[in-house]
Amino acid sequence: MSSQEIVRTKLFSAYEPRFSPNEHHTTLHTRYFSIFIHKLLPERLSSLDASRAMILLFCLNALDLLHQPLPSPTALPWILSRQQSSGGFDGGPLIEAHLAMTYSSLVALVTLRGDLSVVRPLKSLFTSLQLPDGSFRAALRSGEADARFVFSALASAWLVRDFDGIDTHTAAHFLAACFNAQDGGFGLRPGLESHGGATYCCVAGLRLLGALHEVLDAVQCRRIVDFCVTRQVAGSGGFNGRANKPPDTCYAFWIGATLQNLGYDRFIDRQGLASFLDTTFDPMMGGFGKTPGEMPDPLHSHFGICARVLTREDSSQHFDTCLGMSKRAFDTHVTKHPISKPYYQGYEMNLCC
Ligand SMILES: [Zn+2]
Repeated sequence: MSSQEIVRTKLFSAYEPRFSPNEHHTTLHTRYFSIFIHKLLPERLSSLDASRAMILLFCLNALDLLHQPLPSPTALPWILSRQQSSGGFDGGPLIEAHLAMTYSSLVALVTLRGDLSVVRPLKSLFTSLQLPDGSFRAALRSGEADARFVFSALASAWLVRDFDGIDTHTAAHFLAACFNAQDGGFGLRPGLESHGGATYCCVAGLRLLGALHEVLDAVQCRRIVDFCVTRQVAGSGGFNGRANKPPDTCYAFWIGATLQNLGYDRFIDRQGLASFLDTTFDPMMGGFGKTPGEMPDPLHSHFGICARVLTREDSSQHFDTCLGMSKRAFDTHVTKHPISKPYYQGYEMNLCC
């Protein structure tokens, strides 16, 4: 057998499901996520130390989706202690307030069924970070400004019920300008290559504003669906983020959730996706790796759990894909903090059908 054939054989055997897709392995996953809540990050993940709020969100959200108890008494005070005078949250001590950490902290608070009325106003944060083109910088001293941080700002505003400080009109038009008519996906900024993560941020951001149907027509919406459907790779069942890339656990969420946000999750090959997730699941440690055979990490483990929910026909009953949290946490939050029109009305509309 040639070396090329050996590599090909190994590659295809890696995609063979190792476990029944009906096994949930809840105990293993719970142990995996609990380690990150109660212990320090291992050395190989030390680069994530500045993103502790995001790691905490991944763990809490995964445990909530697994219907496991949450460490509210210890986690709630820590999250609230990370809010800075600007209103933004940081990822840990001695780190600048950051929009992605602000979004992570607020979703974590909602997941813990915390009270967001104690969160200080975010207006000065939004005002200082939004640029004239509608995009947002990640942080005051950051040069990054793209759709990820527009989504983070809009989701944060939606959660605290206060869009004060955000020019929502230019934000919506910035997200719409990221659309690429050639393939139906979105880039992180106008003119950049389409990407699964960017597509999620743009569609979810527009949906939070209730503006999807205002800035994109029905033909464009169908093109987005086409982009998403073609991301599911025949043979493996997993999703990739861009054409000609291998499938990756996290894109099962970015793309699958976008299809659900558009009302087209019926186009997901759920059995195929479940089979792919069986190949990235770690049977020793719990959690999920990025690709078959890779070590699990908190990000891919979290999105693996989210994607597991998307393999269910009734996933929308269990998971709010626009904000990325359990439906139980979402419903509790909406009951405690009702939102007025037009945002909630837009959020509830099935905009693409
Ligand atoms: Zn990934």
